Amino acid sequence: MHPNSRLLVIGPNTLSETAGRALPSFRIVGRSSALAGVWQLGKQSFDGVLLSLSTGKKALRALRSLREIDPQAHIVLSCTPADEPAARQALGEGADDYILEPLSPRELEECFATPAAPAATPTTPAAPENGPSVDELVKLSDVLKSLGDGPQKTLERFAMLLRDSFRATGVSIELDDLSASAGEIRGPGHEEPILRKGESVGHVVLAGSAYAAPAADVDKRLSDYTLLIDAAVSQARERQHWRDLAWTDDLSGLRNRRYLEMALADLIIRAKEQDRRLTVLLFDIDDFKSYNDRYGHDTGDSLIREVATLLTHCSREHDLVARFGGDEFVVVLWDADKPRIPGSKHPTEPVALAKRFCREIREHHFQCLGPDAPGPVTISGGLASFPRDGEESERLIAAADQALLTAKRTGKNRIELAGGGRREP
Ligand code: GH3
Ligand code: MG
Repeated sequence: MHPNSRLLVIGPNTLSETAGRALPSFRIVGRSSALAGVWQLGKQSFDGVLLSLSTGKKALRALRSLREIDPQAHIVLSCTPADEPAARQALGEGADDYILEPLSPRELEECFATPAAPAATPTTPAAPENGPSVDELVKLSDVLKSLGDGPQKTLERFAMLLRDSFRATGVSIELDDLSASAGEIRGPGHEEPILRKGESVGHVVLAGSAYAAPAADVDKRLSDYTLLIDAAVSQARERQHWRDLAWTDDLSGLRNRRYLEMALADLIIRAKEQDRRLTVLLFDIDDFKSYNDRYGHDTGDSLIREVATLLTHCSREHDLVARFGGDEFVVVLWDADKPRIPGSKHPTEPVALAKRFCREIREHHFQCLGPDAPGPVTISGGLASFPRDGEESERLIAAADQALLTAKRTGKNRIELAGGGRREP
């Protein structure tokens, strides 16, 4: 067995502790409720799942959902001798095996530390009497798998999931600064607060005549959902936060090279599909070292920040502005609208925009250099267009870099087009 095998334990904490002692080579992930366990299996794969039957019907429902989410999962039930008939029945419903409590380390080892037996053929799950259906849990796991799409998308998917699962005419959710809705909010409805540490941070509204006074089990399920929505949106926020950090340049606050390369590849795919043009401008500050030498590194940093702010101000909202590294910046100019003359891809407008960047920087009074600045700050740039100068991001950037080198070699303070053609500022 792989030294980093993972075991998902769904049941009381004592069960996770027992499993941890018996299987020291496993990473144990313990979840005390069936819903949280199903959610966890939706998020990552495990080498084994130990599911306690102590939660009764809920455990059997969870078993069907676990099997739906991962047909290959090695699922073993843990049950008391009194529950053995239910465990035997569960073997026909997707469980691979069961062991009786108190669990012995040897049995746990036999179940998980030896290669797993082939998974049982998934049976068609019967609809549960109450609570979430298998279909609902599968949809839920899809929502949870897509948390990377951000908190707003997560909330919108929950609104749709609740509308379908509760067969409401409409659902609206408000949570902190976010809101989402699905369907039509009309007729009598039911409002459920979203509580965090006892404080209301939002609410879910289910609309449709059936929800004027929901039955106790619907009410309970909805209230469980509010906890799940809050936890999922908070996790989506956290992911977004870390991703933003990974894509942001610390010094300038612009997008960094990693983001640029990824986003440029996406923009090129879009440009190809929609026959739109796209231009890469690679800029470099002229004689930047001399500012560092004369004013110090901190002032050099401030100069980079001020250039970044200027570039952001004079580019269009949809253009992508990034710090490429050192004193180099990239602006990706692309057509948000289709070209007015089909097939016309001549980069006249990007050249005008590039010249504008040069002019703005040259004419700007840089605070960080004070009143005795040695002269205007100038930049040189290389400009490459898709598809003429390259059809992949690396090619386009290399073509722009080549043009930038030519601009530097031929006197700086100028824009050079890939493949030849200079633009004096
Ligand atoms: P050229 O006109 O040919 O571009 O000359 P240059 O002096 O600007 O030289 P070059 O672009 O090759 O070098 C940029 C310098 O920027 C090199 C490095 O010392 C400095 N540098 C790189 N990153 C930073 C930074 O984050 N802050 C500061 N202050 N300086 C940096
Ligand atoms: Mg430079």
